[in-house]
Amino acid sequence: MVMYALCKHGPNCQRHQSSKCGFAHRINELSLPHEVFPNRFVDESDVREGRAGIDVWFGQTYTLAQHSRLRLYIEHEEPPFPDWLRMYLWFYGKEKDSPSKYEDFGLMERIRDDLLPKWNRVRQRRPVAVSDLETWNAPFGWQADEYDVPFYKRLIEHCCQVVPYDVLTVKEAIDMSWYRTNTSMHWGADSRRYFDLVPGERYVLIDESKGEVGSGWYWVAHYDSPHVCAWASPSHFERQRYEKKYRRLNPGHMWPSMEEWKSEEWSSHSIAKRFWHTAPDGTDLDKLPKLAVCFSDASVCDRVGFAVSFLCSMPTKEEWSMPCCAHKLYVCGSEAPELTGCILNLYVLKGRPWSWETAILYVDNNKVPLHVGDHTRPAVSPTLPCGWVLYPLIRLAIRLLRELAKENKYVLLQQLNRKYMICDTVAKECMRTARDNNWTHPPGSASMSIVGQKRLKEALDEVSENQKKLERGGFSSRMYKQDWDLWFSARK
Ligand SMILES: [Zn+2]
Repeated sequence: MVMYALCKHGPNCQRHQSSKCGFAHRINELSLPHEVFPNRFVDESDVREGRAGIDVWFGQTYTLAQHSRLRLYIEHEEPPFPDWLRMYLWFYGKEKDSPSKYEDFGLMERIRDDLLPKWNRVRQRRPVAVSDLETWNAPFGWQADEYDVPFYKRLIEHCCQVVPYDVLTVKEAIDMSWYRTNTSMHWGADSRRYFDLVPGERYVLIDESKGEVGSGWYWVAHYDSPHVCAWASPSHFERQRYEKKYRRLNPGHMWPSMEEWKSEEWSSHSIAKRFWHTAPDGTDLDKLPKLAVCFSDASVCDRVGFAVSFLCSMPTKEEWSMPCCAHKLYVCGSEAPELTGCILNLYVLKGRPWSWETAILYVDNNKVPLHVGDHTRPAVSPTLPCGWVLYPLIRLAIRLLRELAKENKYVLLQQLNRKYMICDTVAKECMRTARDNNWTHPPGSASMSIVGQKRLKEALDEVSENQKKLERGGFSSRMYKQDWDLWFSARK
Protein backbone atom coordinates (compact mmCIF):
# COMPACT_ATOMS: atom_id res chain seq x y z
CA MET A 1 0.00 0.00 0.00
CA VAL A 2 1.33 3.45 -0.90
CA MET A 3 0.85 5.92 1.94
CA TYR A 4 1.48 9.52 1.06
CA ALA A 5 -0.05 11.35 4.03
CA LEU A 6 0.42 11.01 7.77
CA CYS A 7 -2.62 9.98 9.79
CA LYS A 8 -4.13 12.94 11.60
CA HIS A 9 -5.09 10.68 14.49
CA GLY A 10 -1.44 10.07 15.33
CA PRO A 11 0.65 6.92 15.66
CA ASN A 12 -1.78 5.38 18.16
CA CYS A 13 -4.72 5.71 15.80
CA GLN A 14 -7.41 3.19 16.77
CA ARG A 15 -8.32 2.25 13.22
CA HIS A 16 -4.62 1.58 12.60
CA GLN A 17 -4.58 -0.88 15.49
CA SER A 18 -7.32 -2.84 13.78
CA SER A 19 -5.46 -2.48 10.41
CA LYS A 20 -8.20 -0.39 8.86
CA CYS A 21 -6.38 2.93 8.42
CA GLY A 22 -4.81 3.72 5.07
CA PHE A 23 -2.59 6.55 6.28
CA ALA A 24 1.05 6.46 7.37
CA HIS A 25 1.69 6.32 11.12
CA ARG A 26 5.44 6.83 10.93
CA ILE A 27 7.39 9.38 8.89
CA ASN A 28 9.45 6.67 7.19
CA GLU A 29 6.31 4.99 5.85
CA LEU A 30 5.59 7.96 3.58
CA SER A 31 6.14 7.70 -0.15
CA LEU A 32 4.76 9.23 -3.35
CA PRO A 33 1.56 7.89 -4.92
CA HIS A 34 1.91 5.93 -8.18
CA GLU A 35 0.74 8.91 -10.17
CA VAL A 36 1.23 12.52 -9.22
CA PHE A 37 -1.21 15.20 -10.29
CA PRO A 38 -0.72 18.83 -9.34
CA ASN A 39 -3.96 18.80 -7.35
CA ARG A 40 -2.65 15.92 -5.23
CA PHE A 41 -0.34 18.45 -3.60
CA VAL A 42 -3.33 20.34 -2.25
CA ASP A 43 -4.34 19.13 1.20
CA GLU A 44 -8.05 19.28 1.98
CA SER A 45 -7.97 16.89 4.91
CA ASP A 46 -9.18 19.59 7.30
CA VAL A 47 -12.28 20.00 5.21
CA ARG A 48 -14.87 17.33 6.03
CA GLU A 49 -14.16 14.21 3.97
CA GLY A 50 -11.51 16.10 2.03
CA ARG A 51 -8.57 14.37 0.41
CA ALA A 52 -5.15 14.44 2.08
CA GLY A 53 -2.27 16.08 0.24
CA ILE A 54 1.19 14.66 -0.33
CA ASP A 55 3.23 14.96 2.86
CA VAL A 56 6.66 14.10 1.41
CA TRP A 57 8.16 17.54 1.05
CA PHE A 58 9.57 18.95 -2.17
CA GLY A 59 9.26 22.54 -0.96
CA GLN A 60 5.53 22.74 -1.70
CA THR A 61 3.14 24.88 0.31
CA TYR A 62 1.80 22.92 3.25
CA THR A 63 -1.52 23.69 4.84
CA LEU A 64 -1.57 24.41 8.56
CA ALA A 65 -2.89 20.88 9.10
CA GLN A 66 0.19 19.47 7.39
CA HIS A 67 2.56 21.69 9.35
CA SER A 68 1.04 20.71 12.66
CA ARG A 69 0.79 16.97 12.00
CA LEU A 70 4.35 16.86 10.73
CA ARG A 71 5.64 18.74 13.79
CA LEU A 72 3.81 16.32 16.08
CA TYR A 73 5.28 13.26 14.31
CA ILE A 74 8.77 14.80 14.45
CA GLU A 75 8.45 15.15 18.22
CA HIS A 76 7.15 11.64 18.53
CA GLU A 77 9.94 9.97 16.57
CA GLU A 78 13.68 9.60 16.94
CA PRO A 79 16.21 10.67 14.30
CA PRO A 80 17.57 9.86 11.82
CA PHE A 81 14.97 11.51 9.64
CA PRO A 82 14.81 11.27 5.85
CA ASP A 83 16.56 14.05 3.92
CA TRP A 84 13.31 15.71 2.83
CA LEU A 85 12.44 16.21 6.49
CA ARG A 86 15.91 17.57 7.26
CA MET A 87 15.30 20.00 4.40
CA TYR A 88 12.05 21.09 6.06
CA LEU A 89 13.79 21.55 9.42
CA TRP A 90 16.60 23.50 7.77
CA PHE A 91 14.06 25.79 6.06
CA TYR A 92 12.53 26.56 9.44
CA GLY A 93 15.89 27.34 11.04
CA LYS A 94 16.55 24.06 12.79
CA GLU A 95 19.40 22.82 10.61
CA LYS A 96 21.79 22.26 13.52
CA ASP A 97 19.77 19.21 14.49
CA SER A 98 19.21 18.12 10.95
CA PRO A 99 22.30 18.08 8.80
CA SER A 100 22.07 16.24 5.52
CA LYS A 101 24.79 14.64 3.50
CA TYR A 102 23.80 16.65 0.42
CA GLU A 103 24.13 20.38 -0.15
CA ASP A 104 20.64 20.38 -1.65
CA PHE A 105 19.26 17.78 0.80
CA GLY A 106 19.02 15.38 -2.13
CA LEU A 107 16.13 17.39 -3.61
CA MET A 108 17.31 17.41 -7.24
CA GLU A 109 17.84 13.65 -7.14
CA ARG A 110 14.35 13.13 -5.70
CA ILE A 111 12.78 15.36 -8.34
CA ARG A 112 14.55 13.38 -11.05
CA ASP A 113 14.08 9.84 -9.70
CA ASP A 114 10.86 10.02 -7.67
CA LEU A 115 8.71 12.92 -8.79
CA LEU A 116 9.17 13.29 -12.56
CA PRO A 117 8.54 9.61 -13.50
CA LYS A 118 5.23 9.75 -11.63
CA TRP A 119 4.16 13.18 -12.74
CA ASN A 120 1.42 12.69 -15.26
CA ARG A 121 1.77 15.56 -17.73
CA VAL A 122 3.36 16.61 -20.99
CA ARG A 123 7.10 16.27 -21.03
CA GLN A 124 8.98 19.35 -20.01
CA ARG A 125 12.55 20.39 -19.48
CA ARG A 126 13.77 18.65 -16.37
CA PRO A 127 15.60 20.67 -13.72
CA VAL A 128 19.16 19.44 -13.24
CA ALA A 129 20.95 21.99 -11.09
CA VAL A 130 19.43 23.75 -8.09
CA SER A 131 19.51 27.02 -10.04
CA ASP A 132 17.05 25.49 -12.56
CA LEU A 133 14.34 25.61 -9.89
CA GLU A 134 13.97 29.32 -10.61
CA THR A 135 12.35 28.60 -13.99
CA TRP A 136 10.97 25.12 -13.32
CA ASN A 137 7.22 24.78 -13.69
CA ALA A 138 6.64 22.78 -10.49
CA PRO A 139 3.37 20.87 -9.97
CA PHE A 140 2.79 22.81 -6.74
CA GLY A 141 3.11 26.29 -5.26
CA TRP A 142 6.28 26.91 -3.28
CA GLN A 143 6.21 27.26 0.48
CA ALA A 144 7.31 30.71 1.62
CA ASP A 145 9.14 31.46 4.84
CA GLU A 146 8.24 34.08 7.45
CA TYR A 147 9.74 36.81 5.25
CA ASP A 148 7.66 35.59 2.29
CA VAL A 149 10.74 34.24 0.48
CA PRO A 150 9.79 31.11 -1.50
CA PHE A 151 11.56 27.85 -0.77
CA TYR A 152 13.41 27.53 -4.09
CA LYS A 153 15.04 30.95 -3.62
CA ARG A 154 16.31 30.02 -0.17
CA LEU A 155 17.71 26.74 -1.51
CA ILE A 156 19.45 28.40 -4.45
CA GLU A 157 20.94 30.95 -2.09
CA HIS A 158 22.06 28.18 0.27
CA CYS A 159 23.73 26.11 -2.45
CA CYS A 160 25.25 28.90 -4.50
CA GLN A 161 26.59 30.91 -1.59
CA VAL A 162 30.32 31.55 -1.67
CA VAL A 163 31.81 30.58 1.68
CA PRO A 164 35.35 31.30 2.97
CA TYR A 165 37.35 28.28 4.13
CA ASP A 166 40.53 28.19 6.20
CA VAL A 167 43.61 27.17 4.23
CA LEU A 168 45.94 24.50 5.68
CA THR A 169 49.43 23.52 4.57
CA VAL A 170 51.08 20.18 5.33
CA LYS A 171 53.96 20.27 7.85
CA GLU A 172 55.21 16.70 7.59
CA ALA A 173 54.62 13.61 5.48
CA ILE A 174 52.40 10.90 6.88
CA ASP A 175 51.15 7.57 5.60
CA MET A 176 47.62 6.87 6.91
CA SER A 177 47.26 3.17 5.99
CA TRP A 178 47.09 2.04 9.63
CA TYR A 179 44.09 4.34 10.17
CA ARG A 180 42.42 3.05 7.02
CA THR A 181 42.28 -0.47 8.39
CA ASN A 182 41.54 0.37 12.01
CA THR A 183 38.73 2.93 11.92
CA SER A 184 35.16 1.93 12.79
CA MET A 185 32.55 2.64 10.17
CA HIS A 186 30.21 4.73 12.25
CA TRP A 187 31.21 8.01 10.61
CA GLY A 188 29.59 6.87 7.42
CA ALA A 189 30.66 5.33 4.16
CA ASP A 190 33.76 7.54 4.09
CA SER A 191 34.93 6.58 7.58
CA ARG A 192 38.16 5.07 6.22
CA ARG A 193 39.01 7.73 3.68
CA TYR A 194 42.28 9.46 4.69
CA PHE A 195 44.74 11.62 2.80
CA ASP A 196 48.38 10.58 2.74
CA LEU A 197 49.93 13.96 3.30
CA VAL A 198 52.92 15.38 1.45
CA PRO A 199 54.68 18.53 2.73
CA GLY A 200 53.87 21.68 0.82
CA GLU A 201 50.41 20.53 -0.29
CA ARG A 202 47.48 22.80 0.44
CA TYR A 203 44.06 21.86 1.78
CA VAL A 204 40.98 23.67 3.06
CA LEU A 205 39.19 22.84 6.29
CA ILE A 206 35.52 21.94 5.82
CA ASP A 207 34.59 20.73 9.27
CA GLU A 208 35.77 18.97 12.39
CA SER A 209 34.41 15.76 13.86
CA LYS A 210 32.50 16.11 17.11
CA GLY A 211 31.13 13.68 19.66
CA GLU A 212 32.43 11.40 22.39
CA VAL A 213 34.33 9.14 20.02
CA GLY A 214 36.77 10.36 17.40
CA SER A 215 36.32 14.07 17.93
CA GLY A 216 38.82 16.66 16.71
CA TRP A 217 39.63 15.15 13.31
CA TYR A 218 39.62 17.42 10.29
CA TRP A 219 37.46 16.81 7.25
CA VAL A 220 39.48 18.52 4.53
CA ALA A 221 39.38 19.09 0.79
CA HIS A 222 42.16 19.53 -1.75
CA TYR A 223 42.82 23.21 -2.36
CA ASP A 224 42.75 22.75 -6.15
CA SER A 225 40.00 20.13 -6.38
CA PRO A 226 37.70 20.95 -3.47
CA HIS A 227 35.35 18.07 -4.18
CA VAL A 228 37.98 15.54 -3.20
CA CYS A 229 37.64 15.18 0.55
CA ALA A 230 39.04 12.96 3.28
CA TRP A 231 39.89 12.82 6.96
CA ALA A 232 43.20 14.16 8.21
CA SER A 233 44.86 14.64 11.55
CA PRO A 234 45.06 18.29 12.69
CA SER A 235 48.59 17.86 14.07
CA HIS A 236 50.10 17.54 10.61
CA PHE A 237 48.87 20.90 9.39
CA GLU A 238 49.70 24.51 9.74
CA ARG A 239 46.74 26.86 9.51
CA GLN A 240 47.38 29.77 7.15
CA ARG A 241 46.29 33.33 7.80
CA TYR A 242 44.27 33.54 4.59
CA GLU A 243 41.06 31.96 3.39
CA LYS A 244 39.94 30.52 0.08
CA LYS A 245 36.40 31.02 -1.16
CA TYR A 246 34.37 28.32 -2.87
CA ARG A 247 30.74 27.73 -3.58
CA ARG A 248 29.51 25.91 -0.48
CA LEU A 249 31.31 22.58 -0.21
CA ASN A 250 29.47 19.38 0.59
CA PRO A 251 29.93 18.47 4.24
CA GLY A 252 28.04 15.21 3.72
CA HIS A 253 30.72 12.75 4.70
CA MET A 254 30.69 14.17 8.19
CA TRP A 255 27.37 12.48 8.70
CA PRO A 256 26.64 8.80 9.00
CA SER A 257 24.22 7.17 6.62
CA MET A 258 20.78 6.15 7.92
CA GLU A 259 21.76 2.51 8.46
CA GLU A 260 24.98 3.40 10.21
CA TRP A 261 23.22 5.89 12.40
CA LYS A 262 20.80 3.21 13.47
CA SER A 263 23.62 0.96 14.63
CA GLU A 264 24.09 0.69 18.36
CA GLU A 265 27.51 2.25 18.24
CA TRP A 266 26.02 5.49 17.02
CA SER A 267 22.84 5.65 19.03
CA SER A 268 24.82 5.73 22.29
CA HIS A 269 25.71 9.32 21.45
CA SER A 270 22.58 10.30 19.65
CA ILE A 271 21.94 14.02 19.32
CA ALA A 272 18.26 13.54 19.95
CA LYS A 273 16.68 15.37 22.86
CA ARG A 274 13.17 14.19 23.58
CA PHE A 275 11.21 16.60 25.64
CA TRP A 276 8.53 14.20 26.65
CA HIS A 277 11.08 12.67 29.00
CA THR A 278 13.82 15.11 29.90
CA ALA A 279 13.88 18.77 30.85
CA PRO A 280 16.68 20.93 29.40
CA ASP A 281 18.41 20.87 32.80
CA GLY A 282 18.37 17.06 32.78
CA THR A 283 15.49 16.56 35.24
CA ASP A 284 13.76 13.26 34.55
CA LEU A 285 10.22 14.48 33.97
CA ASP A 286 8.80 10.97 34.16
CA LYS A 287 9.52 11.08 37.90
CA LEU A 288 7.19 14.05 38.54
CA PRO A 289 3.65 13.01 39.44
CA LYS A 290 1.14 13.05 36.58
CA LEU A 291 3.00 15.61 34.54
CA ALA A 292 1.41 17.65 31.77
CA VAL A 293 3.89 19.15 29.27
CA CYS A 294 2.83 22.35 27.51
CA PHE A 295 4.42 24.35 24.72
CA SER A 296 3.40 27.65 23.19
CA ASP A 297 4.81 30.11 20.73
CA ALA A 298 3.62 33.27 19.03
CA SER A 299 4.25 35.11 15.81
CA VAL A 300 3.56 38.82 15.53
CA CYS A 301 2.80 41.16 12.70
CA ASP A 302 3.62 44.40 14.51
CA ARG A 303 0.64 46.72 15.14
CA VAL A 304 -1.64 44.53 13.00
CA GLY A 305 -2.18 41.16 14.64
CA PHE A 306 -0.61 37.98 15.92
CA ALA A 307 -1.00 34.22 15.99
CA VAL A 308 -0.44 31.75 18.78
CA SER A 309 0.07 28.03 18.61
CA PHE A 310 0.07 25.82 21.67
CA LEU A 311 0.13 22.22 22.75
CA CYS A 312 -0.89 20.83 26.11
CA SER A 313 0.10 17.19 26.38
CA MET A 314 -1.55 15.49 29.34
CA PRO A 315 0.20 12.56 31.08
CA THR A 316 -2.20 10.22 29.32
CA LYS A 317 -0.72 11.62 26.04
CA GLU A 318 -3.95 11.17 24.11
CA GLU A 319 -3.73 14.63 22.46
CA TRP A 320 -2.83 14.67 18.87
CA SER A 321 -3.37 18.20 17.65
CA MET A 322 -1.69 21.54 17.97
CA PRO A 323 -4.38 24.25 18.10
CA CYS A 324 -3.59 27.71 16.90
CA CYS A 325 -5.44 30.98 16.63
CA ALA A 326 -4.92 34.30 14.95
CA HIS A 327 -6.20 37.61 16.29
CA LYS A 328 -6.34 41.02 14.68
CA LEU A 329 -5.15 43.53 17.25
CA TYR A 330 -2.90 46.56 17.57
CA VAL A 331 -0.06 45.04 19.52
CA CYS A 332 3.70 45.51 19.42
CA GLY A 333 6.55 43.31 20.53
CA SER A 334 6.37 39.66 21.35
CA GLU A 335 5.61 39.46 25.06
CA ALA A 336 1.85 40.06 24.86
CA PRO A 337 1.32 37.26 22.31
CA GLU A 338 3.71 34.99 24.24
CA LEU A 339 1.69 35.63 27.41
CA THR A 340 -1.45 34.78 25.44
CA GLY A 341 -0.02 31.37 24.50
CA CYS A 342 0.88 30.71 28.11
CA ILE A 343 -2.62 31.72 29.27
CA LEU A 344 -4.31 29.50 26.66
CA ASN A 345 -2.37 26.52 28.00
CA LEU A 346 -3.37 27.48 31.56
CA TYR A 347 -7.02 27.47 30.45
CA VAL A 348 -6.62 23.95 29.04
CA LEU A 349 -5.01 22.82 32.30
CA LYS A 350 -7.75 24.45 34.34
CA GLY A 351 -10.43 22.77 32.25
CA ARG A 352 -9.13 19.26 32.91
CA PRO A 353 -7.95 19.18 36.57
CA TRP A 354 -8.49 15.41 36.87
CA SER A 355 -5.90 14.64 34.19
CA TRP A 356 -2.77 16.05 35.79
CA GLU A 357 -0.99 17.05 39.02
CA THR A 358 2.11 18.91 37.89
CA ALA A 359 2.62 20.84 34.69
CA ILE A 360 5.61 22.29 32.92
CA LEU A 361 4.92 25.21 30.60
CA TYR A 362 7.57 25.91 27.98
CA VAL A 363 7.55 29.38 26.49
CA ASP A 364 9.83 31.02 23.98
CA ASN A 365 10.14 34.34 25.82
CA ASN A 366 12.41 34.83 28.84
CA LYS A 367 10.31 37.64 30.37
CA VAL A 368 7.14 35.57 30.66
CA PRO A 369 8.44 33.21 33.40
CA LEU A 370 9.99 36.22 35.12
CA HIS A 371 6.86 38.38 35.17
CA VAL A 372 4.39 35.59 35.85
CA GLY A 373 6.43 33.40 38.21
CA ASP A 374 5.30 29.92 39.23
CA HIS A 375 5.15 27.78 42.37
CA THR A 376 8.95 27.83 42.69
CA ARG A 377 9.50 31.54 42.05
CA PRO A 378 7.40 34.53 43.05
CA ALA A 379 6.38 36.82 40.21
CA VAL A 380 8.48 39.94 39.69
CA SER A 381 6.62 43.16 39.07
CA PRO A 382 7.31 44.85 35.76
CA THR A 383 9.72 47.75 36.23
CA LEU A 384 9.73 49.64 32.95
CA PRO A 385 6.60 51.36 31.61
CA CYS A 386 6.60 49.01 28.61
CA GLY A 387 6.38 46.15 31.12
CA TRP A 388 3.43 47.72 32.97
CA VAL A 389 1.62 48.07 29.66
CA LEU A 390 1.28 44.28 29.68
CA TYR A 391 0.03 44.15 33.25
CA PRO A 392 -3.56 43.03 32.44
CA LEU A 393 -2.18 39.86 30.83
CA ILE A 394 0.42 39.27 33.53
CA ARG A 395 -2.31 39.66 36.17
CA LEU A 396 -4.55 37.18 34.38
CA ALA A 397 -1.76 34.60 34.16
CA ILE A 398 -0.87 35.02 37.86
CA ARG A 399 -4.55 34.70 38.85
CA LEU A 400 -4.91 31.49 36.86
CA LEU A 401 -1.80 30.08 38.54
CA ARG A 402 -3.23 31.01 41.95
CA GLU A 403 -6.54 29.38 41.17
CA LEU A 404 -4.68 26.21 40.19
CA ALA A 405 -2.49 26.33 43.30
CA LYS A 406 -5.64 26.41 45.47
CA GLU A 407 -6.46 23.01 43.98
CA ASN A 408 -2.90 21.80 44.73
CA LYS A 409 -1.94 21.92 41.08
CA TYR A 410 1.64 23.01 40.54
CA VAL A 411 2.94 24.66 37.45
CA LEU A 412 6.54 25.30 36.38
CA LEU A 413 7.26 27.96 33.76
CA GLN A 414 10.41 27.66 31.71
CA GLN A 415 11.91 29.32 28.73
CA LEU A 416 12.81 26.77 26.09
CA ASN A 417 15.63 27.15 23.61
CA ARG A 418 14.10 28.04 20.24
CA LYS A 419 15.82 25.04 18.72
CA TYR A 420 13.56 22.72 20.70
CA MET A 421 10.34 24.71 20.47
CA ILE A 422 7.81 22.68 18.52
CA CYS A 423 5.04 25.26 18.11
CA ASP A 424 7.00 27.90 16.21
CA THR A 425 6.42 26.67 12.65
CA VAL A 426 2.68 26.44 13.17
CA ALA A 427 2.50 29.88 14.84
CA LYS A 428 4.47 31.46 11.97
CA GLU A 429 2.36 29.82 9.30
CA CYS A 430 -0.87 30.64 11.12
CA MET A 431 0.16 34.31 11.29
CA ARG A 432 1.11 34.47 7.62
CA THR A 433 -2.07 32.75 6.46
CA ALA A 434 -4.31 34.86 8.69
CA ARG A 435 -2.60 38.09 7.64
CA ASP A 436 -3.14 37.23 3.97
CA ASN A 437 -6.82 36.37 4.62
CA ASN A 438 -7.93 39.42 6.54
CA TRP A 439 -7.40 37.77 9.94
CA THR A 440 -10.08 35.16 9.63
CA HIS A 441 -9.05 31.94 11.27
CA PRO A 442 -7.12 29.99 8.63
CA PRO A 443 -8.46 26.52 7.91
CA GLY A 444 -6.20 23.57 8.49
CA SER A 445 -5.61 23.41 12.19
CA ALA A 446 -7.78 22.83 15.22
CA SER A 447 -8.93 26.33 15.94
CA MET A 448 -9.50 28.00 19.23
CA SER A 449 -10.95 31.44 19.40
CA ILE A 450 -9.54 34.07 21.72
CA VAL A 451 -12.88 35.82 21.49
CA GLY A 452 -14.44 32.87 23.33
CA GLN A 453 -12.20 33.52 26.35
CA LYS A 454 -13.80 36.61 27.82
CA ARG A 455 -11.17 37.44 30.46
CA LEU A 456 -8.34 36.97 27.96
CA LYS A 457 -10.03 39.06 25.30
CA GLU A 458 -10.58 41.93 27.75
CA ALA A 459 -6.97 41.79 28.96
CA LEU A 460 -5.68 41.83 25.38
CA ASP A 461 -7.87 44.80 24.44
CA GLU A 462 -6.64 46.67 27.49
CA VAL A 463 -3.00 45.93 26.60
CA SER A 464 -3.63 47.13 23.07
CA GLU A 465 -5.11 50.42 24.36
CA ASN A 466 -2.11 50.78 26.70
CA GLN A 467 0.33 50.35 23.87
CA LYS A 468 -1.40 53.03 21.83
CA LYS A 469 -1.36 55.35 24.86
CA LEU A 470 2.33 54.63 25.48
CA GLU A 471 3.18 55.61 21.93
CA ARG A 472 1.27 58.87 22.32
CA GLY A 473 2.97 59.51 25.66
CA GLY A 474 -0.25 59.18 27.65
CA PHE A 475 0.28 55.94 29.52
CA SER A 476 0.47 55.85 33.30
CA SER A 477 1.33 52.77 35.32
CA ARG A 478 0.09 54.28 38.62
CA MET A 479 -3.18 52.34 38.85
CA TYR A 480 -1.49 49.08 37.97
CA LYS A 481 1.21 49.62 40.58
CA GLN A 482 -1.44 50.08 43.26
CA ASP A 483 -3.22 46.96 42.07
CA TRP A 484 0.06 45.05 42.17
CA ASP A 485 0.77 46.15 45.75
CA LEU A 486 -2.73 45.14 46.75
CA TRP A 487 -2.80 41.67 45.19
CA PHE A 488 0.63 40.33 44.42
CA SER A 489 3.31 42.32 46.23
CA ALA A 490 5.72 40.25 48.30
CA ARG A 491 5.15 42.62 51.28
CA LYS A 492 1.61 41.34 51.69
ZN1 LIG B 1 -4.72 6.20 11.27
